[in-house]
Amino acid sequence: MHTPADTLATLDRAIRPAAQAVADLRAVREEWGDLLAAIERPPAAEWPPREARGFLDQLAAADYREDDDQLAAARVGRLPLILREHPAPLNLDALDAAVAAERDLFDLADQLAAAIQRPVRTGRDRYGRFVRDEDDAANPARWHPATHRDAGPAAASSAGSRAYGLHWAAVWLEGRVCGEDTDGDLFELLPPYLLEQAAKVAARARRTVERALERDGRTTHLDDPCPWCGGQLVGSTRPGGEPVVTCSTGEGCGAPAILDRGRRTWRGADLVGLFGALDAARHREE
Ligand SMILES: [Zn+2]
Repeated sequence: MHTPADTLATLDRAIRPAAQAVADLRAVREEWGDLLAAIERPPAAEWPPREARGFLDQLAAADYREDDDQLAAARVGRLPLILREHPAPLNLDALDAAVAAERDLFDLADQLAAAIQRPVRTGRDRYGRFVRDEDDAANPARWHPATHRDAGPAAASSAGSRAYGLHWAAVWLEGRVCGEDTDGDLFELLPPYLLEQAAKVAARARRTVERALERDGRTTHLDDPCPWCGGQLVGSTRPGGEPVVTCSTGEGCGAPAILDRGRRTWRGADLVGLFGALDAARHREE
């Protein structure tokens, strides 16, 4: 017997990996700039991880000037954040994470392109010879795998779409996962096994990035007591989210902070007030 519940369950099985993959790919894109910024700074031993927003803006502005021509095609609506050669990275864990996430998404794009992207058409020129359809080859919606040719004078290697960086790879993958552009003949729908593969790789890339940024949901007991009640302060970083600190005392704590599920809670700009108070308390002890 096939009930409506069965149908829903079937739909759910089909949609869930796609929705999860999209969420994971977006998280990787959103946190990519922070990870690139982290490579250029010594690893932070303190909690919470330092926020990279201001630095990120500077980085984006610097990239804009440097790579103007080369990346013009890839920049439509995206920050030009490209992992580059680092002669002296300050945070090797962040660099390793960035390299691993990039390799994962690039390899996945190669794999999907090989499976569901139509090869470049050939036509005949006016002499009747078979030639590559250059317009079709240049279609910006295409993923171009890296190529290596060492045959004679035509020896060449090209990074293909990898040259545009992880951001573009993630955007392209999201389009395939969502089944975009399948009404033309350039892409086919992803078969279920490739959709699952895409979801698995996207989830791994997100874990890699968030672990390197210490945003993988870890909880830390802060050394300093709550400046207002002396209670235990607990810091946590949620995946993709901002750091949050709560005081374990509960409503009895008189800190000027919002009550969230019965705990004084600091997040966002409120954290500045908390860290100011902690700093003042430390100086009083000295
Ligand atoms: Zn407190």
